[in-house]
Amino acid sequence: MKALVLGGGGREHALVRALSHDPGVTGLHCAPGNPGTAESAVNHSLDPTDGAAVAELAVRLGVDLVAIGPEAPLVAGVADELRARGIAVFGPDRAAARLEGSKAFAKEVMAAAGVPTAGAYVCETAAEAAEALRVFGPPYVVKDDGLAAGKGVVVTEDLATAERHAAECGRVVIEEYLAGPEVSLFVLSDGTHAVPLLPAQDFKRARDGDAGPNTGGMGAYTPLPWAPPGLVEEVMRTVVEPTIAEMARRGTPYRGLLYVGLALTAKGPRVVEFNARFGDPETQVVLDRLATPLGALLLATDTGGLGGTARLDWHPGAAVTVVVAAENYPGTPAKGDVISGVPAANAVEGAYVLHAGTARDPEGRLVAAGGRVLNVVGTGPDLATARERAYAAVAKIELRGSHHRTDIALSAAR
Ligand code: AMP
Repeated sequence: MKALVLGGGGREHALVRALSHDPGVTGLHCAPGNPGTAESAVNHSLDPTDGAAVAELAVRLGVDLVAIGPEAPLVAGVADELRARGIAVFGPDRAAARLEGSKAFAKEVMAAAGVPTAGAYVCETAAEAAEALRVFGPPYVVKDDGLAAGKGVVVTEDLATAERHAAECGRVVIEEYLAGPEVSLFVLSDGTHAVPLLPAQDFKRARDGDAGPNTGGMGAYTPLPWAPPGLVEEVMRTVVEPTIAEMARRGTPYRGLLYVGLALTAKGPRVVEFNARFGDPETQVVLDRLATPLGALLLATDTGGLGGTARLDWHPGAAVTVVVAAENYPGTPAKGDVISGVPAANAVEGAYVLHAGTARDPEGRLVAAGGRVLNVVGTGPDLATARERAYAAVAKIELRGSHHRTDIALSAAR
């Protein structure tokens, strides 16, 4: 199989790496990719949201599958355009990607499917928002209805902050606060059948101890030793199967990866959000553990062939990833600073570096080019070892002004 991966972040480097380990994958391309993907795939510079350009590249390369990494091409309808031209795609059509693209739509589908989630109001005006905030009380949860790269959600005890965010966004979803640890569960679906991956946990806040602003994610780990037994089966039964059935009933079958963000509340698991693609950085740890070859699995989501795949095979042990972020992230990040120490980090036993916001400068040096710059992955027989190796490798990286959390997987590894 020849595959083209769309995107250029840490998630896409993880996808490229996993596909490069699949003996069934004989040709690997990435667009636009990054200096990390260039090590095992051919990079092509391209706007991944430009469906016509993506289709043209896929045809020219003769690929058997286009795997879409980020949400923007999905919401822009790139999967629809490729499928219309007979090209197999990993990723939902635009209509199904609305599960991520509109939080109001996701709430409507969950209500229709009877999926357990936070009570919510969709608000268009300041008066509606004020009323909804009064009904739920603090802590307040205010979500921009549209895509906001993980930064459209404000959770706050302060009413004025909540009202200000609602006014800035326009159409918002205001919802009940869900208390409890968060779990990310990824599920592959071909529109009818669904197969879960390993659950993982990510760390959304910028600073240790879950302090600081929300980010795209500062680290992740799997497995979750503290997760209740039977959690995955319960979520498949109460969330995933009803949602997949509801999407099919509407004539917009969900093909691709459904990311279920959950809060494990005192009343049981509740959906915090759906995303229409692999989560970043949880993918970096989940794919590290996957033993089933990835290429045929991704292809099966397009062709309806997941029915025979009841479960996936996993390597034993654990994986932890720590994000090295640029100075000032999640604000406007500092760009262009030289990164050193990546080869030394890769030389740490059981550790390796995935690239996210990196680029080559005109002299060929590796430089920071985005907010989340590197994902340093540590693996081992248990979380404590994986974590130790990840941080031993992080210590080798030098980037002026960079920051990372020091408490990724800390409490789970104890
Ligand atoms: P989302 O983009 O919807 O995942 O929201 C980003 C983050 O905000 C989540 O990972 C949670 O940490 C937090 N969050 C979102 N919705 C809620 C909620 N209803 N209750 C508590 N925290 C929430």
